[in-house]
Amino acid sequence: MSLDAVLADIRACRACAGELPHEPRPVVRVAPTTRLLICGQAPGRKVHESGLPFDDASGDRLRGWLGIDRETFYGHPAIGVAAMAFCFPGTNPKGGDYPPPRRCAQLWRPQLLAALPRVELTLLVGAHAQVWALGPRAESAMTQTVAHWRDYLPSLLPTPHPSWRNTAWLKRNPWFDHEVVPYLRARVSDMLAR
Ligand code: SF4
Repeated sequence: MSLDAVLADIRACRACAGELPHEPRPVVRVAPTTRLLICGQAPGRKVHESGLPFDDASGDRLRGWLGIDRETFYGHPAIGVAAMAFCFPGTNPKGGDYPPPRRCAQLWRPQLLAALPRVELTLLVGAHAQVWALGPRAESAMTQTVAHWRDYLPSLLPTPHPSWRNTAWLKRNPWFDHEVVPYLRARVSDMLAR
């Protein structure tokens, strides 16, 4: 199946209609030229409204990790974004977002990844993406999985989610900024230069 055909099917998907508190609005941004694939959790409310992935404070922190600005993030043909679920899952009573519906990855992820043969590095942003992609190779907790980041190279790199909710995590784990971020920036710089 061509990438265009997969994307058309995803954008028309309404499989979760009736279970979401709003009309599904799939957000995915990839191209045949995608070399860096960013795999997060699911769009938040702001992204649901704008239709632009990581168009929020989390995206600003993520761009800092990548060492690129907004223009490059949204304009460079080597950068793609495909979360574990493409629609905003809604907000739970405690104020956080519900987890991504599992159905989305089951329905779409294998065919989408098969249509992206040029991907060299996939960022596994948060535990949902890590568990799906790493299976039994994922550690029992996100921190341990990210701490073993070298084990999954060169094609996969686990990171925490760049949400403000992980600011304390980043303070407790300074090795992420000191070791993982420089490696990631070097890989991204190399991919964008070619
Ligand atoms: S979350 Fe995924 S499976 Fe559910 S409606 Fe959106 S695109 Fe379809």
